[in-house]
Amino acid sequence: MTARAHSTATTGRAHRPLDETTATQIADYVAKDPVDDLIAAGYLAGHDGNLVARQLRRPQLLQALEHSVCNAVEPDLNDFYREDLEPAVDWHGRRTQTVRDHCAVCPVRAACTELALRDRDRHGIRGGLPEEKLAIRLKTDADRLEAARDADTRAARTQAERVKAAVDVQRIAIMHLGSAPAATRAANNAAVRAAVQRRHELLTQHRLETGWAAAA
Ligand code: SF4
Repeated sequence: MTARAHSTATTGRAHRPLDETTATQIADYVAKDPVDDLIAAGYLAGHDGNLVARQLRRPQLLQALEHSVCNAVEPDLNDFYREDLEPAVDWHGRRTQTVRDHCAVCPVRAACTELALRDRDRHGIRGGLPEEKLAIRLKTDADRLEAARDADTRAARTQAERVKAAVDVQRIAIMHLGSAPAATRAANNAAVRAAVQRRHELLTQHRLETGWAAAA
């Protein structure tokens, strides 16, 4: 599949412009739309792309990159990096062609840029941006990126807590299958109820923070 064919195939849905580009509005929108729908509607490639991508948590950005041109056609990675001692004029010509042939038609280029910035990765071309523009974005967006990295860390931690809570319910529920003294069964029932309550609280907290359909 060519890069252009891939892009067309994954952006078949019409791109609906956002009325306002406030962080809150976009965050609400992202929370309601699974990542695949955002990609299909072109939100990670259009002019809103950067604003949408910055609202995504790291797992969602990684999920988006599964739809990238790089993943679909596996281009020659040398096209994305300047060679040692390569004259600037040669590199500029090569990178212009790389951006035109790959990044410009990539349906998730905003996610690609955002992930590179969160990872402080400014080597080569990312999301259609060359090294010097990535370096500028790292400076101008420094505070926002730090907050996004913190939010990614918190999201990963709370996800681990939700998984553990779900596993605890299963584990405790099967601890005393079969015959057991009444007092033991009563204590086990109480432990199951507490575990279910903990799972419910974590899930409710997650939904309040991210919306009902968000993956975090
Ligand atoms: S934006 Fe460019 S570098 Fe990033 S995944 Fe797409 S084609 Fe690859």
